[in-house]
Amino acid sequence: MRLDKFLSKATELSRKESKKILHAGEVTVNEQVIKDPGVHVDIVNDDVQWAGEPLSVATGNRYILLHKPEGFECTLKAKEYPIVTDLIAVPELGSLRIAGRLDVDTTGALLISDDGGWLHRVTSPKHEHAKVYELTLADAMDSDAQANAIKEVAEGILLEGDHEETKPATLEFIDETHARLTLEQGKYHQVKRMMGYFGNRVVELHRASVGHITLDGLEKGDSRFLTPEEVAKF
Ligand code: URA
Repeated sequence: MRLDKFLSKATELSRKESKKILHAGEVTVNEQVIKDPGVHVDIVNDDVQWAGEPLSVATGNRYILLHKPEGFECTLKAKEYPIVTDLIAVPELGSLRIAGRLDVDTTGALLISDDGGWLHRVTSPKHEHAKVYELTLADAMDSDAQANAIKEVAEGILLEGDHEETKPATLEFIDETHARLTLEQGKYHQVKRMMGYFGNRVVELHRASVGHITLDGLEKGDSRFLTPEEVAKF
């Protein structure tokens, strides 16, 4: 984690105030005065001190990556389907929240945590974390239709019921019925509605990654804790 971010998390200081105490030479990392706010610290192993007082950031939160299978709902209380937290074997499931929900029939990378600020950073379009979706379409799109869709998606499209166009996104076709869509926002049913805009229908949808987090061999239904480095990168 960047040193200025570490300081603002470990104290009441803002990022700007953290930079001030750094410039004043009040902070040491492993007993060396560090003035550069961009220096990276290991939140578990580095000894960071401000005016001789050791600092630490809370590491008690849980940060989980789940490979969501189809047939599970991203809600906290089961309605029609079993819920995703049924798949996670950790205590106090009730305190967990989901970053960027997936539809019941969508599979893929789902981030779950009890750290509200972190969840906000993961999902806020302001932070522009790319989400990569792999999709299968009901109807084949020929090269003209593909080129048109690629262009429109890159420029932004106005979805039914919305007041603002979608943010520029990247659509790539693998063949006439398979595509990859990279989004930096997460509107309700966004992928399905975007393909609906082109008169098509998504029949299979999988989220391959969220920001720098990929499923990387994690089987459907399995989960793992993120490493402190993976958590800090958001
Ligand atoms: N967009 C959708 O339409 N569905 C999802 O599950 C995720 C993104």
